[in-house]
Amino acid sequence: MNRQLMFLLLLVVAARIAPADESISGNGAVTNHLPEIKTLLADEYKSLDAIYKHFHAHPELSLEEKETAARLAKELRATGFEVTEKVGGHGVVAVMKNGKGPTIMVRADMDALPIVELTGLPYASKVRARDKYGRDVGVMHACGHDVNITCLIGTARVLAAMKSKWQGTLVLVGQPAEEIGEGSRMMLADGLFHRFPRPDFCLATHCDSRFPHGHVNFRSGQMQSNVDSVDITVLGKGGHGAAPQTTIDPVVLAARIVIDLQTIVSREVNPLNPAVVTVGSIHGGTKHNIIPDEVKLQLTVRTTTDEVRKQVLEAIQRITKAAALSARAPNPIVKVHDHFTPALVNDKELTASTVGLFRDVLGAEFVHERPMSLGGEDFSRFIRAGVPGFYYFVGSAPPTRVAEARKGGASLSKTHTGTYYPVPEPTIKTGVLTMTSAVLKLVGKK
Ligand code: ZN
Repeated sequence: MNRQLMFLLLLVVAARIAPADESISGNGAVTNHLPEIKTLLADEYKSLDAIYKHFHAHPELSLEEKETAARLAKELRATGFEVTEKVGGHGVVAVMKNGKGPTIMVRADMDALPIVELTGLPYASKVRARDKYGRDVGVMHACGHDVNITCLIGTARVLAAMKSKWQGTLVLVGQPAEEIGEGSRMMLADGLFHRFPRPDFCLATHCDSRFPHGHVNFRSGQMQSNVDSVDITVLGKGGHGAAPQTTIDPVVLAARIVIDLQTIVSREVNPLNPAVVTVGSIHGGTKHNIIPDEVKLQLTVRTTTDEVRKQVLEAIQRITKAAALSARAPNPIVKVHDHFTPALVNDKELTASTVGLFRDVLGAEFVHERPMSLGGEDFSRFIRAGVPGFYYFVGSAPPTRVAEARKGGASLSKTHTGTYYPVPEPTIKTGVLTMTSAVLKLVGKK
């Protein structure tokens, strides 16, 4: 074999052995820009920190995100995006067209929770508002959506400053009403995917109270569950507490229904398909010696597949009716709320590609796969509408406190509690760095 032939053969063999890994070249095209992204981010950080603290001190409840949306719209407009407000309630849509290339959507949720803030931070919220039942409540960004929107603004600024390095279209979305599972449905119903460029991919990040800052975590495929809310009115026949024989007691019947419902998950659903039926609220009666006419139950139902969802909802109807029949009671009224939140399922290919990039950007030891949870997240609707999506969490807690908690020491404050707060600086920087990189990988390169 002559030398030239040998060389050619070696080339062919090498080409076959070398991984046909597009992500390696793709990652390189992004990681080459890391020094520039980090410099831009360092320059922007002071302003982002001030914006974050403004959002934190001025939280608004779901469907009330008027001022938050206005500030977000103003910031995105100043960055050069074309901004439309009031898309599905207080939704904000910001578009930047930058030549031929894929359309990438990034979504951040904007709403806060009816919780009194107990962090004692200098920028803590003192806001109070009326909730939908007219009650006076404290309002707090206890789920860190203030971080999520600040990261969206940071991502917008960095990508706008790097406009000469990429081509395609960016659609940045400020979504209202995530906490009540309504915002994404409202925005889609108001033409998010028709009035604006339809995305080829959608991305979202959310801060995580149990993970150290500087770290991110994700799950490929199914990440969260279907969420349904069910109201049950258990009917009876009221009367004197001393003469139960003249009544049909809905309190005893409701108690029986609560126990019977436990058999759905334990006895009817395949144990390999996780599901939860929780009765979170039970109300009936006014006084010790009066048997009431009715008792009201409120349930949250979590399932991971459409089949199990159907099975569990049918079982709730059947078991509730059967219990009432056995007690000579009228049929209970079972109301499954119309708008359920579908399970969040990350696109496997997009996840693998983006996570591979995150490992190069942050270091593999900062990127973690997490178990599936039966939480809910309405970003899922964008994916269900046919757009491959990837949703991941950014750690927001001090690493020393996470380590202590994992060793069984003092527990961490969790999201949806009055004592939770993200540590702003590393958390926002990690959010912007990862999201900017993820977008740059998906858009066209110049
Ligand atoms: Zn949240």
